[in-house]
Amino acid sequence: MARYRDPVCRLCRREGVKLFLKGERCYSDKCALERRNYPPGQHGQARAKQSEYAMQLREKQKLKRMYGLLESQFKRYFTLAERSRGVTGDRLLQILEQRLDNMVYRLGFARSRAEARQLVRHGHFLVDGKRVDIPSYLVRPGQTIAVREKSRQLQPIQQALETARRRGVAEWLELDEVNFTGRVKSLPTREEIPVQVNEKLVVELYSK
Ligand code: SF4
Repeated sequence: MARYRDPVCRLCRREGVKLFLKGERCYSDKCALERRNYPPGQHGQARAKQSEYAMQLREKQKLKRMYGLLESQFKRYFTLAERSRGVTGDRLLQILEQRLDNMVYRLGFARSRAEARQLVRHGHFLVDGKRVDIPSYLVRPGQTIAVREKSRQLQPIQQALETARRRGVAEWLELDEVNFTGRVKSLPTREEIPVQVNEKLVVELYSK
């Protein structure tokens, strides 16, 4: 599958917000955005007035990049959100949060979504007791995610849990560190999803 291979910090600088793509580094003063908070490239520091379309596009790109998705996958989630009950923008964010790789990241079993995706692909997780190695699997409320017994001592998982211990886990999730298990208590509300994106602009973009 095609994927972005260039330095990811450029993406944060392009969008002007932290997309949290590099784990622990994103919380340190080594973060590229803390050092150079302007878009990359020769004309990065030139001021440009943004059109309405450009603003909508930037919000969509932020979201897509934050969750590490390609355009076609992202569009599919939008269609799903549009067809489901509720506010389309809120539903879109909820669906993105339901992805198994995101859940693994939010529960603190991985330091970034990219790392979570790799761990899921390598088959280190069980959902309701069954091995699932599809990062896009949508986890429903009430389901449990567990690290397989033989994967519990893996260094990336141990390190990620150490970080999660310091930062805590979202209210809508439940983590049982001793048993390496997490549970989705409910779908998150908009206020519980910590992403700096104006999802209404994304809806406007796709509704044209
Ligand atoms: Fe973005 Fe993290 Fe790089 Fe900072 S360190 S620019 S938040 S990916």
